[in-house]
Amino acid sequence: MSNEFNVIVIGSGPAGYVCAIRCAQLGLSTAVIEQNVGEKSQPLLGGTCLNVGCIPSKALLDSSHRYAEAAGHLGEHGIEVAGVALDIPGMMARKDKIVSQLTGGVSGLLKANGVTVMTGAAVLNAGRRVEVTSVDGQTNTYTAEHVVLAAGSEPAAIPPAPVDNDRVVDSTGALCFEAVPTRLGVIGAGVIGLELGSVWARLGAEVVMLEAMDQFLPNMDEQIASESAKIFAKQGLDIRLGARVTDVAVEASHVTVTYAQGDSAHTEEFDRLIVAVGRTPRTGKLFSADSGVTVDERGFIFVNEFCATEAPGVWAIGDIVRGPMLAHKGSEEGVMVAERIHGKSAQLNYDVIPSIIYTHPEVAAVGKTEQELKSEGIDYKSGTFPFAAIGRALASGETEGMVKILSDANSDQILGAHVVGPAAADLVQQIVIAIEMAASTEDLQLMVFGHPTMSEAVHEAALAVDGRAIHMVNRPKR
Ligand code: FAD
Ligand code: NAD
Repeated sequence: MSNEFNVIVIGSGPAGYVCAIRCAQLGLSTAVIEQNVGEKSQPLLGGTCLNVGCIPSKALLDSSHRYAEAAGHLGEHGIEVAGVALDIPGMMARKDKIVSQLTGGVSGLLKANGVTVMTGAAVLNAGRRVEVTSVDGQTNTYTAEHVVLAAGSEPAAIPPAPVDNDRVVDSTGALCFEAVPTRLGVIGAGVIGLELGSVWARLGAEVVMLEAMDQFLPNMDEQIASESAKIFAKQGLDIRLGARVTDVAVEASHVTVTYAQGDSAHTEEFDRLIVAVGRTPRTGKLFSADSGVTVDERGFIFVNEFCATEAPGVWAIGDIVRGPMLAHKGSEEGVMVAERIHGKSAQLNYDVIPSIIYTHPEVAAVGKTEQELKSEGIDYKSGTFPFAAIGRALASGETEGMVKILSDANSDQILGAHVVGPAAADLVQQIVIAIEMAASTEDLQLMVFGHPTMSEAVHEAALAVDGRAIHMVNRPKR
């Protein structure tokens, strides 16, 4: 095997493997280096997303939702289910099978595209020389015209709550509890806290979430965040805002958490504690000082809008660079970089990246929030429509939440959409397409939406922007 490639990609997560496939499709000789290996030293591909992130969490979210439906919610449909029982090992085995099916799929795709896969921890040195140390300690050096850094991120830690992978776990540990905790504490009411807190709450745990910020989901549209908070509270998630954890004491049978809220101190006992306070870029041992790569003040690799680093021929994509830590954001950066290496003028619209919290109902968003429009001084129009007035939502018994669409007051161009409710992820994706096509709410108003579908809420919200929704009484417009 040659030690020289057109492109070396370090990391096989959704940013790295997608970049490698696109490079290979464009005829570039491409290698991927992955440090994550299995018991037989085989590469474990797919990164955080496939192994301990998006996919296993969604498998458990879907399984736990089905359990909650069977155990509690089917009665309203006239379906009585007796003897519903949990099989946690079975649920975990299903999740693990999905993970290996998908990671195997990535392996097959890389092979089919002629990408060379190597295992080991890679370090980028000056002159795009990549030193790879395998598990047996052997070191080899490879060179490439272009190196793409895609090393991802890892769970952030906080001093009062060190993870012991027993009573105190991070997101990875929370994906493989062997039994349902009776009382589960979660530090951080962000995306991971809400998703994994929901999984275990549905399976029977009493869940208390301790969130340092005074505001719930501060980056979401305020109206949607407040609606979501009410829905989650009804589901039994006990979310305590402004709660600063000061001490965590692990004892034989439980963990004691002390936190401050306002001027008062509180203590809670849990049998398990999840620390979900964000993620940090995995850049510590990725490049040497003379590589030419620089990081910003938060440790993210410094890149321009096309993901080029300050070192010639070195690119960085995914969670190790600025922007939302989302699999689809990293993948599209991977495609953009592959195209640019090949000489094309690809770019990515960072303003139109959807984000989704896969609770039930889902919370999803794209574009500007109402508070952002206000603070930027943009004159806007807003339309909301509740799922309670959508026939399909009633038929499904999924009436919580709403669709909200924001548009420019002068041009009517759509600027943002925010949804909490059934199929929110897919409804927001419709608006992603609309924004990318520079559509106005009038365009949506004039389109035909199938009946009865959840997407009629998008149509009605677009109509509501101009005070002309049909299936609710419109509020007078400004
Ligand atoms: P990663 O997926 O972290 O992959 C990086 C890879 O590089 C890893 O395999 C690592 O082993 C390898 N590596 C690192 N350093 C080296 C080195 N020196 N040498 C060789 N290999 C190296 N995002 C979504 O969009 N939707 C979701 O539903 C979602 N759910 C999530 C749920 C959880 C519980 C978590 C933790 C995350 C979730 N995310 C989700 C976030 C998503 O997983 C990440 O944004 C995404 O995986 C980042 O992709 P990446 O390729 O940049 O990095
Ligand atoms: P997050 O940023 O979404 O939430 C972390 C929360 O912890 C925040 O609300 C923060 O205020 C709080 N926090 C921070 N320090 C704290 C402290 N000391 N005490 C109490 N609360 C504290 O991060 P996350 O939930 O850990 O997720 C990490 C990343 O993974 C996110 O960037 C997210 O984009 C990605 N992710 C995405 C999905 C998805 O797309 N559905 C799912 C899971 C994770």
